[in-house]
Amino acid sequence: FDETPSASLEQQQRATYLRDLLTRYNREYYELDEPSVPDAEYDRLFRELQQLEQSYPELQHADSPTQKVGGQALDAFSQVTHETPMLSLDNAFSEDEFDAFAKRVAERLDSASDVAFCCEPKLDGAAVSILYENGKLVRAATRGDGQTGEDITANVRTIRNVPLQLLEDFPERLEVRGEVFMPIHAFEQYNERAAAAGEKTFANPRNAAAGSLRQLDSRMTARRPLHFYAYSMGVVSPDADLAATHFDRLHQLQRWGLPISEEIKLVSEAAGCHAYYQDILQRRDSLRYEIDGIVLKVNSIALQSDLGFVSRAPRWAIAWKFPAQEELTVIRGVDFQV
Ligand code: NAD
Repeated sequence: FDETPSASLEQQQRATYLRDLLTRYNREYYELDEPSVPDAEYDRLFRELQQLEQSYPELQHADSPTQKVGGQALDAFSQVTHETPMLSLDNAFSEDEFDAFAKRVAERLDSASDVAFCCEPKLDGAAVSILYENGKLVRAATRGDGQTGEDITANVRTIRNVPLQLLEDFPERLEVRGEVFMPIHAFEQYNERAAAAGEKTFANPRNAAAGSLRQLDSRMTARRPLHFYAYSMGVVSPDADLAATHFDRLHQLQRWGLPISEEIKLVSEAAGCHAYYQDILQRRDSLRYEIDGIVLKVNSIALQSDLGFVSRAPRWAIAWKFPAQEELTVIRGVDFQV
């Protein structure tokens, strides 16, 4: 006797509608760099589909946006197959959701002691993979659909704070992953100049960064004020002497010459993540770049391996999102009128 409730016709139709709509939004956002709805709206619909699929397993589809990462690589670029997939992150939108994540982590690890987390700003740009061989930058790629990305080596070479040559004691082969973004001030200046010259302006720094990275002519990318911060390692030579924690690995990357965010902090237990969230949220408007939340990662690499992955995200990390700025603007507008 099967006690699992089945979805009503209305719920089935809603799930199909949401899948199609989110697929369209993904294409606009990842492939065309021209979203037509605010992220908060996308996140709400995504969450609704996720909840329908969780409640009614018969509504789950392998090609659902909830099972996928990003968008397809454009044919105009050569394609790069990632040696290990570039995944997305699960989201928490409230303190309760973060606490539920921390509890799941502790339960899965069956850990009596506190789990340390590395706290990082969630940079709002585009994910890239940069490969160094014998210290030289040999290839750079977008995340694409997580398995296959676009070869954007020539474009990434033009980003001023991406080293073309690493400093000493680096591994023979090192893949660095991080975010390319456009600092807010530079974005505003760029848009002003583009508007004056009658050229295309960008809706926000994220779209500006993603669009600039995927230029077919790298001289165009070179004119865009892009910036890079590394946030993890991908494939690394097996004989490399890597640190045992994520926080220490980020500082290893820094010693090899890669830029990392100055806001990265180590906390010894989940409670420390709450304070980090509040601190960064308060300073959000004074940061030089746009962020849409913070990322919390289990610090021990051994514990990360114990926790593993689900289809599109690691179990050892979460993006704790800030209230959406588009929404805040509306709320502020209302307050102002009252
Ligand atoms: P995500 O942005 O929620 O999280 C994963 C990404 O975070 C990584 O790929 C990486 O690029 C980035 N990141 C930034 N700082 C990081 C750090 N310190 N450590 C690790 N990763 C870091 O996931 P996603 O799959 O890239 O995008 C999904 C989000 O994009 C949605 O939640 C939505 O807000 C937005 N989106 C919007 C639309 C739209 O139409 N408006 C469409 C699709 C997606």
